[in-house]
Amino acid sequence: MTSANGSSSNTEKTLEAMKSFSETYAKRTDTYFCIDPSVTAVVIEGLARHKDELGSPLCPCRHYEDKEAEVKAAYWNCPCVPMRERKECHCMLFITPDNDFAGDKQDITMEEIIKVRESLAG
Ligand code: SF4
Repeated sequence: MTSANGSSSNTEKTLEAMKSFSETYAKRTDTYFCIDPSVTAVVIEGLARHKDELGSPLCPCRHYEDKEAEVKAAYWNCPCVPMRERKECHCMLFITPDNDFAGDKQDITMEEIIKVRESLAG
C-alpha cells in the first residue's frame, strides 16, 4: 500500500478520514463497533468510496436510484438521520452496547480496513 502518487494516496487519505470520523463518532454517541471487525471495515471502505465518488459519505448499505440526488437530500449522508435521531445504524457501524453484535471497541486499525479493501478489489 505504498501510495506514492495521485489517486491512490488520495483514496487512502479519505479512508483515514472516514476511519477517524467513525472512531470519534462512536465515542461521542457511546456506540461500539461490531464484534466482527470486517463488518466495520466494509462500511468504512464504502463510506470512503462514496466520499471520493460523490463528495459526501452517503450510506453504503442502501440501494439508490440516483446517488447525486440522495447526496443533495442529505438524509442518508453519514451520520444519517435515523442514527442522529435514534442511534439506528442499519449498517452495524455504530452499535449500541445492548445489542448482541456490539463489540468492546471504538477503534479499528488501517490494516484491517485495507485488508478488506484489497479483498473487495479482488
Ligand atoms: S446507517 Fe447511517 S450511521 Fe450507519 S453507516 Fe449508514 S449512514 Fe452511517
